[in-house]
Order: sequence, then structure tokens, then C-alpha cells
Amino acid sequence: MCRHGKGHIYEYVETAIERGLDEIGFAEHIPIPGLHDPDGRMLIGEFPIYLQEIRDAQKKYSEITIRLGIEADFIPRYLDFVAKFLSEYPFDFVIGSVHFIDDWDFSHPDFIEKYHTFGIDETYKAYYNLLAEAAATGLFDVIGHFDQPKKFGHQPTTDLTSEIENALLIIHEKNLVLDVNTAGIRKPVGEIYPSEDILRRAHELGIPVILGSDAHRPEDVGSHFSEAREMLLKIGYERQCAFRNRERMLFPIE
Ligand code: FE
Repeated sequence: MCRHGKGHIYEYVETAIERGLDEIGFAEHIPIPGLHDPDGRMLIGEFPIYLQEIRDAQKKYSEITIRLGIEADFIPRYLDFVAKFLSEYPFDFVIGSVHFIDDWDFSHPDFIEKYHTFGIDETYKAYYNLLAEAAATGLFDVIGHFDQPKKFGHQPTTDLTSEIENALLIIHEKNLVLDVNTAGIRKPVGEIYPSEDILRRAHELGIPVILGSDAHRPEDVGSHFSEAREMLLKIGYERQCAFRNRERMLFPIE
């Protein structure tokens, strides 16, 4: 429903069943009235359709657990709107993500040149500062695609250890979960978000993880999960999370 995704909810669920998943959570992009983002999200008037389609899918498929989630952008000027919106619906989980630095959607392929005018290192720094702020709000359960500025292959030339550490410490302090997101494998960078180094530090801090494929097409559901599980087990993670009514549940990674 976000205008840059394909397929019906049922097709995603059926792919999840075929691939042997016990559970699937949907996390549409949150509608934000007033934000200029024509191919980024549904209109607010379409939100009830999303709710209904998830409910219908929950009734139709008894062989898999289906959770209602949302991916909520952290954009400081829309924070009050987002907070109110999140409080109004019975989400199972909320992913907090940063896609915007001011008005720039750095995750959008049409605006890649801006990495060079803004500066790659400055992009990362501004991004991690926003991510830390997002985590500090306490509005979210999961922090999405932690190192997303790497999406198109832009690598920082400066040491970002302190920015990354600061964001991870706040994630830990606020008891949030990290999204281990395989979509990065399908992007130019070709690797999972977050990187193995960041995940190692998250593991040392005791930050839990949840697997996400960030699927925007049915065939992406659960893609590269075996790679993600392998990496997590190698790092020392033994458990992964799922959510119900915004409460965390832990399951073995196998
Ligand atoms: Fe996202």
C-alpha cells in the first residue's frame, strides 16, 4: 500500500507459509499527512483498509501467526502526530526508522546525488544522531535498518564509532530491539543491516534482535534469513524476538 511495493497481503502470507515461517509481521510505512512523499506511503484515509486486510488475513490463514505492525518514521517535526497515531491503534509492534534528514529522503534512489552535496560523513553523522534521538523517544519497539546510509554503497571515511556507540547505548537503555534486516543484501551495498561489527557490539550490550526481510514484493518475504541466522549464531546470539501487543517474546534461533 506504500506505492513502492507490490502484491497483496495474501501473497506475502502465502510466501511466508511456503517458506516455513511460523509467524509474519506486516509493517507498512506510517501515513503522515502533510509530508511530501508521493511514493513513500499510503494516504491516511487508506489506513483502515490496511487494518481490515490484516484482520481478514488473520482469519483466513490459521496455519501462520500474522502480526499487525507499522514502520514509523522519526521526523522531529512530525513526532507529535506519530506519537498520537501509534497510541490509537492496537499494533503488535512498531519499528522506528529514520529515512529523512530534514527534507531529504536519503533512502530514496532518486535523491542519491545529495550524498555528495551533503557529504557522506555528514550524512552518517546526522543520521546516527537522529537515530539516537528516535530511540530516546521511547515510542518504538524496534529500531529499523540501523546503518541504512550504506544502502547505495556510500562508505564513510571518518571514524563513526562514537556515533554508533551512542545510538546503541540509547537503544540498550530504552530496552529496544534491533532489526536484522536482509533487504540490504538486495541493495547496492549487498549486506545485511546492521553490519556484523555493529551487531557484535549490540550483542555485547545485550541488545535483542528481530529478523526482518523488509519485503516490498511477496518473493522477498524471509529472503536470506538463513544467512542472517548464520551470522547471528556466529556472533553468539541464541534467541530472536517476536512481538504481540507490543510485548516482546523470545524464541531460539534455529
Ligand atoms: Fe525503512
